[in-house]
Amino acid sequence: MRIAVVGGGPGGLYFAYLWKRRHPSDHVELFELGPADATWGFGVVFSDEALEFLRADDAETVDAIAPRMERWSGITLNLSGESVLIDGIGFSAIGRLDLLRLLQERARLVGANCRFETQVQSVDQLAGYDLIVAADGLNSLVRRSFEGDFGTSLSYLSNKFAWYGTTKRFDTLSQSFVATGLGSFNAHHYRYAPDMSTFLVECDVATWNRYGFGEKSVEESKAICERVFAAALDGHPLISNRSVWRNFPWIWNERWSFRNMVLIGDALHTAHYSIGSGTRLAIEDAIALARALEARPGDLPAALQAYEAARKPVVQKLVAASRRSAEWYERFPEHMTLDPLDFALGYITRSGRMDLARLAAMSPGFIARYASVKGTKPDPTQGASR
Ligand SMILES: Cc1cc2nc3c(=O)[nH]c(=O)nc-3n(C[C@H](O)[C@H](O)[C@H](O)COP(=O)(O)OP(=O)(O)OC[C@H]3O[C@@H](n4cnc5c(N)ncnc54)[C@H](O)[C@@H]3O)c2cc1C
Repeated sequence: MRIAVVGGGPGGLYFAYLWKRRHPSDHVELFELGPADATWGFGVVFSDEALEFLRADDAETVDAIAPRMERWSGITLNLSGESVLIDGIGFSAIGRLDLLRLLQERARLVGANCRFETQVQSVDQLAGYDLIVAADGLNSLVRRSFEGDFGTSLSYLSNKFAWYGTTKRFDTLSQSFVATGLGSFNAHHYRYAPDMSTFLVECDVATWNRYGFGEKSVEESKAICERVFAAALDGHPLISNRSVWRNFPWIWNERWSFRNMVLIGDALHTAHYSIGSGTRLAIEDAIALARALEARPGDLPAALQAYEAARKPVVQKLVAASRRSAEWYERFPEHMTLDPLDFALGYITRSGRMDLARLAAMSPGFIARYASVKGTKPDPTQGASR
């Protein structure tokens, strides 16, 4: 089989590696518009749960990535000068570029032909391939060329976000919520290397307008964010990498394939960064696609249908949780009026995936602090104002 993979992000690279490793006589060619040694963004975080899913399929790759990862347990919420630790929840993080380099090396080692700095300009260029795997991300050319056939929908959240890095090292995944005279900000921050952290700043559109960010350069916006988050940054600078303000896009496709083209990863669906699952979903899509193709050799339409049938319900569940999480962030200034413990309870139960029984088992320290300060056990309807 001759396969073209469009896009050398985590989804495309992982599919190219997986398929070529298992089917060495097939021709796998990957096209990536960027160079091999550059990318946008900083680190990506995986929950322990997400890594275990991947380990079940491919322990070798997890073992290759693991030594490069930062690990910790817990989420720290900073609000109104207080910190609340929600203990017991494990995470690992890695620089996006580090992850891509590891996957590039694995794809090359098994013989996939990765062509960097090679943009696919039109789907017509890919005539002659038996299968086109569209792993070309949010602005997928393949998807945009056949939007009606894929049943694409696209909408945007109203909050604005900018993805920075910083040299400040954080002990846990942390969230800082800061009220200023012109509105409220929130930052998601966590370390992904011994000396580097991701620092993602978010605010509602009213605050964004009051600060005049629409007219400010990347450097001017960064300087304002450094002042707003001076306490969290502790004298460290923010670092920009094309850190423009954006609105998070919701992408969904009713049909996952058309003719010999199939969508995976962000080209197919998005999951809000607050549940940190986009990279995991892209890699799991690649695994599901490879399985479906292997189960129906020689019958591409049936294999692509089987991929969608098996994978869609799983993705729909995660996307629904990520939408509930995003709705909480869309109203985060309102939640900031709660006292820090109720705020933390609302935060941790926001996506609907964490009920009180599970929280009590995972985070006994948080539950004990809550009970000792409040004199009562948490009531999810009190904190979970979502
Ligand atoms: C602010 C932010 C924070 C995030 N944080 C996390 C996190 O903590 N954890 C997590 O798991 N995920 C996170 N994500 C999501 C994650 O980055 C994406 O979900 C993930 O990268 C999707 O992988 P992908 O391979 O589908 O697409 P991408 O990583 O977007 O890769 C697509 C690739 O296709 C290439 N391409 C596009 N068009 C063409 C073309 N015509 N020809 C050739 N190449 C092309 C692009 O250059 C790109 O390299 C975050 C996303 C954002 C925006």
